[in-house]
Amino acid sequence: MPLLIDIFPARSDNFGYLVHDVATGKTAAIDAPDGKTIREAAARRGWTISDVFITHHHTDHVEGIPLLKRETGATITGPRAEASKILGLEVLVAGGDVVKLGETEFIIIETPGHTLGHIAYYDPAGRHLFSADALFSLGVGRMFEGKPGPMWEGLLQLRALPDDTLVYCGHEYTLANAQFALSVDPRNAALNIRAAEVKRLRESGQATIPVGLGIEKAANPFLRADQPVLAKAMGLAPDAAPELVFAALRKAKDDFKAT
Ligand code: ZN
Ligand code: FE
Repeated sequence: MPLLIDIFPARSDNFGYLVHDVATGKTAAIDAPDGKTIREAAARRGWTISDVFITHHHTDHVEGIPLLKRETGATITGPRAEASKILGLEVLVAGGDVVKLGETEFIIIETPGHTLGHIAYYDPAGRHLFSADALFSLGVGRMFEGKPGPMWEGLLQLRALPDDTLVYCGHEYTLANAQFALSVDPRNAALNIRAAEVKRLRESGQATIPVGLGIEKAANPFLRADQPVLAKAMGLAPDAAPELVFAALRKAKDDFKAT
């Protein structure tokens, strides 16, 4: 039986997600950006929130936990490595663990870098990846806590998933990400096509998510740090170590001013 996914805006630029296991009626909020908004989204669908799956400790992903716990009694699952930083976690998980929502299984993938204990939730049967702030469309999260090597390794794990996986990330940053991506990889055809699509979607007020992972593999410069063209764009030798190219890309993005 399928998994239904409700996408809605929360806070200023977060995505809220509700995932609903049709077989059992179990429903999880992916992260808790805003408890009230999430409750209203569930009510619109007529779904009862049974679980909250947390990806990392940042306020814009956890601040809705107390309200959701109080009003729904949902079970709160999140990264073991950030247990001391997230109030209210009840089930602690780490890479390779499987989290069940009724009949749907999510595999936990460790994606350190944005925060040290950041995790992603992957549903292999339905090919849905909830990547939060580890992988955005055409970008990645800012490297607040980790080091480039482990962050790149985490992204390689995501890149190894099937092309027809749908990516659901934490923020609507795609338009600004496209500007940076085009500045470092201007002749990439897949990127130019995706950037044009993103512009059209945003101009008509639509979300740019979900996006196929196959498109991201071809267009997202941070998933292409092992490509000579990006090493060259960063002023490095074509055979430079991918994590060095990745680190240079991340730094360049930090300094980039989107117009
Ligand atoms: Zn974050
Ligand atoms: Fe965030």
